[in-house]
Amino acid sequence: MSKYAEIIVKIHNLKEDRAFTYRIPPSLSVEPGSRVLVPFGSRTVPGYCIALTDKTAPGVEQQLKDILAVLDEQPVLTPELISLAFWGAKRYLCSVIDFLEAMVPATLKAAGGHKAKTAKYAELTKAGASAGARGSKQQLALQLLKSGPVSLTDLEKRGVSRDTVRTLEKKGWVRLIVLPVRRDPLAGLSAVREAPLQLTPAQQEVLAQLARSSEGRPKPMLLYGVTGSGKTEVYLQAIACMLQKKLGSIVLVPEIALTPQMTERFVARFGSSVAVLHSRLSAGERYDEWCRVARGEALVVIGARSAVFAPVRKLGLLILDEEHEITYKQEEVPRYHARDIALRRAEMHGAAVILGSATPSLESYTKALRGEYLLAKLPRRIADRPLPPVEIVDMREELKSGNKSIFSRTLQAALRDTLAAGRQAIIFLNRRGYATFVLCRTCGHVMRCPACNVSLKFHSTSAMLCCHYCDHQEPYPAVCPACGSRYIRHFGAGTQKVEEELRRHFPAARPLRLDADTAVRKGVYQKILACFRRGEANVLVGTQMIAKGLDFPKVTLVGVVTADTALNLPDFRAGERTFQMLTQVAGRAGRGAAGGRVVIQTYTPEHYAVTAAREHDFETFYREESARRKEFGYPPFGCLVRLLLSGGAEEDVAKAASLLAGFFGPEIELWGPSPCPLEKVRGRYRWQLVLRGNELEPLLILAREAADRFRQCAAAANVRLSLDVEPLHLL
Ligand code: ADP
Ligand code: ZN
Ligand code: ZN
Repeated sequence: MSKYAEIIVKIHNLKEDRAFTYRIPPSLSVEPGSRVLVPFGSRTVPGYCIALTDKTAPGVEQQLKDILAVLDEQPVLTPELISLAFWGAKRYLCSVIDFLEAMVPATLKAAGGHKAKTAKYAELTKAGASAGARGSKQQLALQLLKSGPVSLTDLEKRGVSRDTVRTLEKKGWVRLIVLPVRRDPLAGLSAVREAPLQLTPAQQEVLAQLARSSEGRPKPMLLYGVTGSGKTEVYLQAIACMLQKKLGSIVLVPEIALTPQMTERFVARFGSSVAVLHSRLSAGERYDEWCRVARGEALVVIGARSAVFAPVRKLGLLILDEEHEITYKQEEVPRYHARDIALRRAEMHGAAVILGSATPSLESYTKALRGEYLLAKLPRRIADRPLPPVEIVDMREELKSGNKSIFSRTLQAALRDTLAAGRQAIIFLNRRGYATFVLCRTCGHVMRCPACNVSLKFHSTSAMLCCHYCDHQEPYPAVCPACGSRYIRHFGAGTQKVEEELRRHFPAARPLRLDADTAVRKGVYQKILACFRRGEANVLVGTQMIAKGLDFPKVTLVGVVTADTALNLPDFRAGERTFQMLTQVAGRAGRGAAGGRVVIQTYTPEHYAVTAAREHDFETFYREESARRKEFGYPPFGCLVRLLLSGGAEEDVAKAASLLAGFFGPEIELWGPSPCPLEKVRGRYRWQLVLRGNELEPLLILAREAADRFRQCAAAANVRLSLDVEPLHLL
């Protein structure tokens, strides 16, 4: 037994990442990864043991303090995860404790620590095993216990009372023991076990490719397959191969609450080898699942972003489904991306990685084309089911013909037909309130910054159009600079407006609305969807919340009110988001036998994100988008680090931003300082600086130095600085 433990304590104002040595009292068993309580100054604080040791510097021994308590029965972290935290702190410019804290699910950190739950069980004795009982109840009990201990609660459920057990105990046939019981989050799931499907030749080829690469040092695989092409079946069978080798797998999904069908499929295939980790579990359930994974009892982990830290000891495979989804990036400290963590863990374990998507991220597809990833494709749906036809409606033409409604004539007619036929429709609107852009309704011209080529944002207070990357400003034009039309307006209709219009113009419509406003309370989301599924409503109006993975066989029409809201976000990923969103929404139509159609309304029908979505053509989209990114050095053709400053007084924030900018020399490409597109959030003003370079490493070094220097300055007192490495957006 080691005498000392190195502890990283949870103190927020501690400047550096350092571990402190504490004595381990003989009464405690501490391991690397244990959560402990230690005295620190005059306080008692929690911390993590990162290493054990028998030596200390000479003369220090007398000053060392004792660890006060160990919080959990079993350590929550493994040595691998501890070293991952050190790597992560460097990679994402945060502290090690930030990372350790992020790895352990919040519910596990609740004060008090965790213990396994226990219950009383009955077990046969030797005498009992060969005994012939008299009463039928006693006989039943002996029968049930033949295959192993059964809890008293379960015996009671099957008609064996506690009295009967007591009688058997007196006879010496049964003894009572205490065993841990598992709090099972899937207990309610009555999944029928399901055999693997016979793979199609295309699916077989993907698995063969994976197997070939797994010899030696496997390359990550990008699995690019259209929706319904059988990617999930490939995941399942790849995991089964790993199970045969007694290796674990982690499957990440963008939002586990939205993918109950996916979880069911995994449980149906692998039964109790599956552990589910997500935020809706109770603390007890989560601890038990976590421990089952750590002990190697559950080799298949399925969960959202933070499940990438599951304490699987022998990892064979990591899978990210919908790898392009932005939910894989954590938007608070530590701002990590689950994809990078997965790749790092795979490297440490020599494990395989599958990144699956119907619309791969530009990052991943570029790496695949460069040969850093294997590229596997499933270009067709299973059984050659067709992808739904997509019609693009030019809203400029609508206005010209005198239709000022938010619904085009095509969408109106399609809606009437659908409702008359007793079918269902989904109307989609990606409304983002802050993104008011200025657009000519006659020619579709969008006001853009001459220097940055991003759309300008309308500021109602100053009545000016402003660029959020540089400091360019210009007055609101009276007429369109492209065509001279007076119909140049800032744009932004909400879902609520759409719902109103539906009720007014379509007597047959019984709409339901699903967006961040209606789904504020927990459970409302599921309720609204269940309602729609039962057919109590025939139109579902919503934001991107309704675009993900939903499967409604009765939906034959999907309408997109305007494709332009996302397109005109003042962000370099606007085109990519739009293409992903349109492809995903279009995938909601025609999943049943009745087929389906998709109507997309837009003021920019010629935009490549829109035309590529019409053809379900990722590759053309990729070519266009990557050419543009290359030109400006945007990712993946360059790396960005964002330095975001926020504070209650705009003047302080602006001053701090220019001070911080002064810490960088001319050798680095620096954008800004400028106000963020989201200038004010919850009463705090926001400014940003963005570092750009071809390699990430030098940016990390410069950003950390500047941040350390900044935090020593008086200007830092009222301003918060946060660093975002490879930000997903610059809003
Ligand atoms: P994706 O994950 O690409 O959307 P899925 O794996 O969910 O695709 O497959 C789509 C549908 O096709 C599912 O209903 C699935 O059960 C079925 N499917 C997948 N692979 C096969 C196969 N080899 N044979 C028959 N049906 C399959
Ligand atoms: Zn115009
Ligand atoms: Zn600009």
